[in-house]
Amino acid sequence: LDKLTPERRSANMRRIRSKNTGPELIVRRITYGLGYRYGLHSRDLPGKPDLVFRRRKKVIFIHGCFWHGHAECREGRVPKSRTEYWTPKLERNRLRDAANAKALHELGWKTLTLWECQLADPDMLGVKIKRFLG
Ligand SMILES: [Zn+2]
Repeated sequence: LDKLTPERRSANMRRIRSKNTGPELIVRRITYGLGYRYGLHSRDLPGKPDLVFRRRKKVIFIHGCFWHGHAECREGRVPKSRTEYWTPKLERNRLRDAANAKALHELGWKTLTLWECQLADPDMLGVKIKRFLG
């Protein structure tokens, strides 16, 4: 996974950015299975959260590790080649995510970010989601 070419990463980004993609479907399936109901991609909220629980005032984001700079996994590292291209680009994404989280917080919303690398363990994911939604 560390050896993805930029072309491959771009393809991944398109896949991740587009709606109803694999990672998001996994989270939706688990959340639905736990009995929670949600809205999707609310345009009225900062960052257009992937899953929205209006009554609880909570949102879930599903983030690709590379594009959103997951600090805790290999996928989240800046590539060693073309750093002058990747560093500012990925930094912008991180800043945008942080600004969205802050704006949501100020509006009284609670946010849970799930990373793509966490989706391989559905049980753990279920625990996290339940703990977050209460
Ligand atoms: Zn990750």
